[in-house]
Amino acid sequence: MNATSPNTPTTKSGVSMSDNMNAFQNAVAQFDEAAKIIGLTENQINLIKEPQKITIAKIPIRRDNGDIAIFTGLRVQHSSARGPAKGGIRFHPNVSLDEVKALAFWMTFKCAVANIPMGGAKGGVIVDPKALSPHELESLSRRYILEFSDVIGPDRDIPAPDVNTNAQIMAWMMDTFSLNKGDYLPAVITGKPIEIGGSLGRKEATSRGVFINVKMMAQHLGWTLTEKSAAVQGFGNVGSYAALFLHEAGVAVKGIADISGGYITEKKEGLNIPAMLEWVGDHGTLEGYTELGVTSPDDPMSVLEMDVDILVPAALENQITTSNAHHIKATLIAEGANGPITPNADHILFERGVHIIPDILCNSGGVTVSYLEWVQNRMGYYWTEEKVNEEMSEIMTRAINEVLKVSLARKISLRMAAFVVAIQRVLKASEIRGMYL
Ligand code: NAD
Repeated sequence: MNATSPNTPTTKSGVSMSDNMNAFQNAVAQFDEAAKIIGLTENQINLIKEPQKITIAKIPIRRDNGDIAIFTGLRVQHSSARGPAKGGIRFHPNVSLDEVKALAFWMTFKCAVANIPMGGAKGGVIVDPKALSPHELESLSRRYILEFSDVIGPDRDIPAPDVNTNAQIMAWMMDTFSLNKGDYLPAVITGKPIEIGGSLGRKEATSRGVFINVKMMAQHLGWTLTEKSAAVQGFGNVGSYAALFLHEAGVAVKGIADISGGYITEKKEGLNIPAMLEWVGDHGTLEGYTELGVTSPDDPMSVLEMDVDILVPAALENQITTSNAHHIKATLIAEGANGPITPNADHILFERGVHIIPDILCNSGGVTVSYLEWVQNRMGYYWTEEKVNEEMSEIMTRAINEVLKVSLARKISLRMAAFVVAIQRVLKASEIRGMYL
């Protein structure tokens, strides 16, 4: 936040913002703005803003050729004021402390806005997992969890998958942790395979949550979904099922983008989403997908500016910036991805009257079902998919209603309202617990 120029735009509340800030600076800018709205004191801000604990470990593995390779592993626990910390583990060459801090920070407030009894954490390893053999990947995953076994645990900090980590990796991690503690401890990690305590409904949970948000906002705006159109950026876990749920509800999904480019149609009924899902299931990406009446611009960004009612960014952070915010035509944006809109762009869109369902609310269906997985592991009793979806839907519906109420009462954006609700919950828990000595 200190690296702003004199030309950096400021928000209504006087908080400086720039498109060029890193993820943690973006996260803190959102926090600072909400803190001003609530009127937090300096002491209160200090109590909850910065991460609680940062652990950095050297992760050595033996490569298949006998060499030893050393990687850097990170775990940031932002807050455990409301319960054990919770957050995924990312394997990526661009992992940095700032990124992990930002993601841990968002997890704290995501759990608080959904009102699930957990705090926020995130982990990562600076590695290109594609350069590892399956055996090396297993060694890295097992060694990561071993190095962090003092700071994680079913009542302490519960990891989950994130970019480039999956159910198999969670299984190796759970196995390593359990063997070292001498107990069977499935609740140490979520996103596991069903056979060892994973939850039904987890795969589609984030997208189902995105769809519940869209449905409720449509209701609030007096929209009939079958008369509306949409575009979705990203066709991975979140984007593909979000597109499918919209399609099944009768929304004409007229644009999809993934890393291979855009897929756009003028057809009244929109794209054939089930066929696109099948294509990605067979080929990994949409590369080569064809459909009558569909054009494929090379630039995936073009989908963001389509003349549709609903836009779902579900790919990467920082996709909508000051350079394209003025060209966005959708009037409802549902943030499937984390941080897809920069703070500056967010203000441009808010001034233009665009409704934005913020990431910490919109994509919290994923962590909500992760929490339900942990609950089932603790009970040793497993629910049907219907029951999981019902529980998740109840939690999400309550969260959306609470945020909407604060947004209307205080005349603030849904993002600020979500932060106001979440910050107050984290602060209250921190203050009630008080200072130990
Ligand atoms: P994923 O890896 O399954 O899919 C990412 C998609 O984005 C792919 O289709 C990829 O082709 C596409 N993509 C990449 N670069 C692109 C570009 N330049 N233009 C257009 N498309 C591009 O990832 P995911 O799990 O679907 O996650 C997507 C976002 O949602 C991330 O921000 C993630 O942090 C967030 N998120 C995911 C979950 C979850 O449960 N998976 C939960 C909450 C938030």
